[in-house]
Parts: sequence; structure tokens; C-alpha cells
Amino acid sequence: MTLKLYNSLTKKKELFKPISKREVKIYSCGPTVYNYIHIGNHRTFLMSDFLKRALKFNKHNIKHIMNITDIGHLTSDADSGEDKMLAAAKKERKSVWDIAKFYTDAFKNDLKSLNIIAPNKFTRATEHIRAQITMIKRLEKNGFTYIKDGNVYFDTSKYSNKKLGGGNIKQRARVKKDPNKKQQNDFVLWFTKSKFQDQDMKWDSPWGLGYPGWHIECSAMATKFLGTQFDIHTGGEDLKQIHHNNEIAQSEAATSQKPWVNYWVHGAFLVNKNKGKMARSSGDFVTIPNLETAGFDALDFRYLTLGTHYRKQMLFSETALKSAQSARKKLFSTYIELRSGGRGSLKSTKLGDKYFKQFTDSVNDDLNLPKALATTWAVLNDKKVPDKEKVYLLLRFDNIFGFNLRKLKSKSIPFRIKRLAEKRLKARLKKDFKTADKLRKMLKAKGYEIEDTIKSYVLKRK
Ligand SMILES: [Zn+2]
Repeated sequence: MTLKLYNSLTKKKELFKPISKREVKIYSCGPTVYNYIHIGNHRTFLMSDFLKRALKFNKHNIKHIMNITDIGHLTSDADSGEDKMLAAAKKERKSVWDIAKFYTDAFKNDLKSLNIIAPNKFTRATEHIRAQITMIKRLEKNGFTYIKDGNVYFDTSKYSNKKLGGGNIKQRARVKKDPNKKQQNDFVLWFTKSKFQDQDMKWDSPWGLGYPGWHIECSAMATKFLGTQFDIHTGGEDLKQIHHNNEIAQSEAATSQKPWVNYWVHGAFLVNKNKGKMARSSGDFVTIPNLETAGFDALDFRYLTLGTHYRKQMLFSETALKSAQSARKKLFSTYIELRSGGRGSLKSTKLGDKYFKQFTDSVNDDLNLPKALATTWAVLNDKKVPDKEKVYLLLRFDNIFGFNLRKLKSKSIPFRIKRLAEKRLKARLKKDFKTADKLRKMLKAKGYEIEDTIKSYVLKRK
């Protein structure tokens, strides 16, 4: 149990210690479902997936919750802008409910294609309105709110929180000043007066018919399912400054317990070469279905993300994805070849153990997956590591990488070919080289090259 994680809260790499030995509780900010999710967001979801796998690798059980923001919210974090869901519904001539369902399904399909382990529970904001109202009532009772012009605000002068860093919202020129706010850092907990027309989704509340602000759903649902204090909260770095600082403020103000979360793990942006940060608001973004249409597998993108540490900006380009694709294919075919190398008992060697330790150390060093990937290729290219052990190590490494190698089908080598190769192996081991040679020629005629290892063989299609 030596996993170290960079904690945005303390700005340090820390040894991970769970609150309870029974399970590690994780909350991840999920998508707002008004459009397809772009690969920049998926980079963050992949980061959470690698983190979960690293925790499992270190023998932890996990309880993971992810929200789905299916309530119409605003194009800006600071309670201004256009309602994203409503804008999408108008554009696509659908109801906001239909929009939410369609893009939630699309998101779940993406997760499957990317081999991302689903959370234990997806919590939809619209299904937990009561929990949000309860939390706002508690904040009201504890004296952290005020009402202005029909909307309930969180008063940041009563609970100032800049724990995760970030500047003052006032300095951000693109955000219009809200005259109803006592401080510009304050945020809306409940709207009864929408700034927009036609808000379809409305619920009864002690403050009148309306709908919750964006930030409250994560605090309310995380607390409901994970308790008033839990281990890890993940999200993209774009959420850190406003959304996550607000989540902390309102959660700790409501429950009077701190810290709300022990470790905050943030993923860095994906930058589209020549175009800058990928964002849905610009309309210029790449999705998983886009990649698939262009002839890539979603797992090519998964492979690509392994090459850049999650706290570093990742540069995306088609060239980079193409080389990730060929490396991923090479990894798969190498694994299939090694696996088809006949049976035999596994004996771990000192060299193999050394590689395994090297791999584990990289994973446990704040998920240094670029280094772990380099170790993987070093193992595969090392002639001194027996093939059987290579397969064994690769499968263990795959617990982190998540390519589901075990499930790969060796489509390339038919059964009749394998049978010939097995027959040849028997002959060779009995030193019946005449038969072995004959069988090698037969295999060659059928388009297969056979390479001998000490106790087995590797079949390759010519
Ligand atoms: Zn959130």
C-alpha cells in the first residue's frame, strides 16, 4: 500500500491513506448531457479509470459515484450565459428530457468503447432534487445563505474557500457582474427566477417553483451516497477554481465537518494542435464516434493517453493518434503471438520480478503511466525474459492499462494451424527433427512462420 497521489488540496504528492480499510470512496464530476462528450473530457474520465485500477492493484475495494448533470445549466460557471440544455433542445427540436437521455446513452457507450469501468452508481441530478433541497435548507439554517430577487445565494463572506487555489472571479473579464450578489464569488443555490425564458425543468421548493444551481448537485449527491467525509474527488482542472471550491464551501458549511474530501485529483487539459483547449462551447471538438468513423478504435485514444502524465497538458493530433494506433496494435499482436506459444509452466525469474517492481513503482508514483508503459515495452523487447513470463507480466500490467488483453481473440491463427504447431513442438522436444522440419515446411506453405523458444514456439503469419 504505497500509492502516492498528488493532492490539489495540499499541492503535494502524498501517501494515500483511506478513511476506512473496507473501501475507498470516490466521487467524479460527470458530464453535462447536452451534447456528445469530447475526447478532452474523456481524458479526465480515463484518468479516474486508471486511478481506480491503481487502487485495485493496491488491494483496495472501491465505491465510485459519478453524477450526470441532466438539468439545464448555464454556459458559464458563474451563473451567467445561456442555458446549455435548452439551447441544444431548441436546436435539435427535442425536449430537454429527450436531449438528456440521448446524450447520457451516448456517454455510456463511449465509456464502454474506452474500456472504462463504470462507476458503482451514476447519479442523475434530476433524480436527487430532494437531497439538494435538504442541503440548501441546512445551509439556510446554518446562516450561509441570502435571498435576492427570488434566488437563493451562498454567501461566501460567511465561508470563504479558496482551498484549491485559483484567482478571484471578479478578475475574469468575460463574466458579467450580477447586481444581486453581495460578493461576486457568491453563487446561486436555487433559482426561482430564471434569467432565461422557458426553463422546462422545475420543482417545488420552500423558496418557490424553480431549479437548483449547478454546484449543489455534486455536494448533495456525494454526501448522500458517500457520507459527510470521503476519500477522493476527481475532475478536470477546469472545474477546480469555481465548481470544486464551491462544492467544498457548501458541503463543509452544511455538515460542519471538514475536510469534506481528503484527496482532490485533477486531470490536465487536452490541447488540440493548432486550435488550443478542446471545449464543447466552441463547437469544434473531436468525439469517440468521430474517431471510429475515421478508422480508429477508441482504445487507440486510451493508449494515447498513457503517453502523457495526467497532470501535464496533452497535445492531440491525428499523427499522434496514428502512432498510438500502431503501437496499440503491436502490443495486441505481440500478446497474441506470445500467448499462442504453447503450454508450459510459468517460472518467474529475477529479471521478471525486477521489471514488475519497476512497473509497480511507476504506477504508485502518482500514476506515472508513461514510465509504466516504457517498462512494458522493455519487458517485451528483452530476450532474456521467457515468453511465458512475458504473458504473465503483460496480463498483470493490463490490470492498470485496461485493454482487456485476456479477452482478445487470436483470430489470426486458426485451430488447424495451432494443431500442426503443437504436433511439431512434440516432435522437436522428442528430438524427432525430421518430422519437426516436415511440419515447419507444412506451416510455411500455409503462410505461417514458426520461431522456436526453449520449451515452446511463437507462430507468426507471414
Ligand atoms: Zn461536480
